[in-house]
Amino acid sequence: METGKVPESANAPSAVPPVSDSDTKEEFTREGISAAPGIVIGTAFVLDHEKLSAPEETIRAQDTENEIARFREALEKTKAELRKIKESLAAQIGDDHAKIFESHLLILADVTVIEETEAFIRDERRNAAWAFQSVLTKVVTSLRAIKDEYLADRSTDIVDVRRRVVRHLLGKRSRTVASPPEPSIIVAHELAPSETAQLNRKVILGYATDSGGRTSHTAILARSQGVAAVVALESASQEIETGDKLILDGNLGTVVVNPSRATLTMYRKEIRRFKKLEKQLLTLTGYPADTLDGRKFELVANIDLPEEVKSASNYGAEGIGLFRTEYFFIAQEKLPSEDEQFRVYRAVVQKMNGKPVTIRVLDIGGDKIADYIHSSPELNPFMGWRGIRFLLTRIDIFKTQLRAIYRASSYGKVNILLPLIVQLDEVTKARRICENVKEELRKGRFKFDDDVKFGVMIETPSAVAIADALAKEVDFFSIGTNDLIQYTMAVDRGNSKIAHLYQHLHPSIIRFLKMTVDAAHKRDIPATICGEMAVDPLSTVVLIGLQVDGFSCSPNMMPEVKRIIRSV
Ligand code: PEP
Ligand code: MG
Repeated sequence: METGKVPESANAPSAVPPVSDSDTKEEFTREGISAAPGIVIGTAFVLDHEKLSAPEETIRAQDTENEIARFREALEKTKAELRKIKESLAAQIGDDHAKIFESHLLILADVTVIEETEAFIRDERRNAAWAFQSVLTKVVTSLRAIKDEYLADRSTDIVDVRRRVVRHLLGKRSRTVASPPEPSIIVAHELAPSETAQLNRKVILGYATDSGGRTSHTAILARSQGVAAVVALESASQEIETGDKLILDGNLGTVVVNPSRATLTMYRKEIRRFKKLEKQLLTLTGYPADTLDGRKFELVANIDLPEEVKSASNYGAEGIGLFRTEYFFIAQEKLPSEDEQFRVYRAVVQKMNGKPVTIRVLDIGGDKIADYIHSSPELNPFMGWRGIRFLLTRIDIFKTQLRAIYRASSYGKVNILLPLIVQLDEVTKARRICENVKEELRKGRFKFDDDVKFGVMIETPSAVAIADALAKEVDFFSIGTNDLIQYTMAVDRGNSKIAHLYQHLHPSIIRFLKMTVDAAHKRDIPATICGEMAVDPLSTVVLIGLQVDGFSCSPNMMPEVKRIIRSV
């Protein structure tokens, strides 16, 4: 479908760098899923996973034993991983072939290697990943110095073991990603939100990834950054090389590699057409989001990073419907203090000039990981220690954030939103903590708004099922279809292999939405929608029919949603 959504990048002069036309390499096209709209022409910058290497870090003396324990745990995990591969290989091609992994397992059990690594951690006070990498690199270098075919093969095994253990120690999330030196299209097998957040936005023209879905958090981040993105390209990161010329079409979900002169000319024309369309859409900024028969909808913005508030205002947002505070946290090296948070929230509230700002308390976990919080990976993170579950076990972090939010509330209109609610008890506990925080602030003579509204995300089937009970306890519902669909359909929102099952308009979703809206309206509270379903043109119309009270979406999507509402 022609979306007509035009990213800011299509307008920016840097979006179309002076790429020289390529006739030397052959043109080919790869199809994926459109994750963020816009068309950009640029050079590829491929993020290479396999070159994963450990950074050197000094650790504190009191942390060495802990680091050694982490090292032993990583060895065990690698052993388990290799045994599994060995077993499945044995089942497929027989025991003899599977034996190739025995030498890997022997390296992992090598007493000298283990002792040397532990001594390195203890005596040099270096991180385990660096220590193990150094010890094995030394072995590889000496084996390679002896020109022997058998030993050369063994050194390859050691490199493989080194990579596996280092990966466990760093956790996949810990990859430090370097930004490209010049404006480029980032190509990667996969990108975690923490990695996307590390990249310098100024040099990112777009994202192309092998994995991911439309509502994976990297796709959402791309949309809110106004950067075009295509996901689920399967093996594009292996086929594309850094320096290749690309046309990334985030509207159609395609990537053209090494485009010919004719293709470039066609796409440049298309970009000009989009610019015109965006101009037309922007003329709607001053108009309300109401239907032809006069039904009015609230149209507010989702922001992931505080600086996006400017874009929200430019696109005429009536408020911020969802401020995902976790991105600010994962972009930091350590937990932000109350004052640091307060300054961020206050700036957003002040910039909105009295318009409501719904601040969602930390929805960390799932694929949104902060290394200083999550020390060990979970087997099933989307079903794990995430959102309100995390906050209710880390009351210290929860209270600090609430204090900062309440303090910011005296500068405008603030609402508080709780993520991933599955039971009533979570709401009552969170409310009690809020009352507690307010009491402390009163005692400390801090100013805050006593009438901050309190809402919950409806994004799990259990929250839908108890929506009537929840509606008695809160001031508003914000329906998060990204997760609601994931949990209802049992479809990982970031898994490209099953993306076809991720359906906004599945009957179960429509029924759940109706149940939620009805439960809210019965208690006279609003139910708005903040999931990406809001910006799917057909779904927008269905949501109007389901009587939701408002839409919250990425700032650059707002004109298009408004156009649809105003045409119904
Ligand atoms: C949702 O789940 O729909 C939502 C808006 O929250 P997030 O995308 O941050 O999980
Ligand atoms: Mg969610």
